[in-house]
Order: sequence, then C-alpha cells, then structure tokens
Amino acid sequence: MTQTNHMTQSQWQQFILNQLSDHERERYEDHLYSCDECLEVYMACLDENVQPAAPIVPEVAESIPAHKPAAKPFYRQTLFHYGLAACITLLLMTTGLFSQLLTHSNQWNNIAGAKQHRSVTDQLMQKTTAFLDQLHPITKGGKTGE
Ligand SMILES: [Zn+2]
Repeated sequence: MTQTNHMTQSQWQQFILNQLSDHERERYEDHLYSCDECLEVYMACLDENVQPAAPIVPEVAESIPAHKPAAKPFYRQTLFHYGLAACITLLLMTTGLFSQLLTHSNQWNNIAGAKQHRSVTDQLMQKTTAFLDQLHPITKGGKTGE
C-alpha cells in the first residue's frame, strides 16, 4: 500500500470548480482512479456543491438569456463530474475494487443521499456481472445461480 499524497476536501472543491491547471486536473483525476478514499471525499464534495448557496429558481434560470456564454453554468460542471464519478465507479466495479467500497455501503448511501442509489447500483452490478460472465464463461463452470 503506497500512501500517496491524498487531496484535501478543499482541493477537491477546486477540482470540481475547475480551478486547477490542466496538468493538475489530470493528476487529480488519475488519483481518483486509484484511491477510493479520495473518491469518497470527492463524491461528498460533489454532493455539497449540488446545493448552491443561493437557490436558483427555475424562472430566474430561464430568464437568463444566452448572451453570457462565458460564465459556465455551475450545474453543468457538476453534471460532468457526476458522469466522471459514474465512470470511475464502473471502472472500480470491473477491477474488483468496488467490492471493497461495498463494505462501506452505509457511507455510500449517505453520500448519495437517496435509497434509489442502491437499486441503481444493484442493477449495475447485475449487468456488470452478466457482462463479466459472458467474458469469462469458464470461471463459472456453467452453473447458473439462483
Ligand atoms: Zn487519495
């Protein structure tokens, strides 16, 4: 177990807010793929960022015309990061690391803040398992589970 420098919560905030250089961002992203601890911190930060300090009323959002394209809507970045997190989660599942994360399922539920996360995860697990079965039919020996 190599203890690399873990990123702090505020560093992940910077990552999410896109305040890092390209090089740093790559390094952070790379670290996410290999460190489930930081992935949890990162997911927690995402959760916090979903709730903006000043709530955006739909009316207001619609009344903002497209004449200010320079200011990136914050939630779009958040969506991007959720996509990234989902990709990493899938990656971890296929590499077996996800089974370690499952032991922290309580924390995961807290992070996701919703029970549906679990059922989605279950579905993903089933799909991934079925997919892996196709890839490695030999390891299963043809025995079908319940
Ligand atoms: Zn780390």
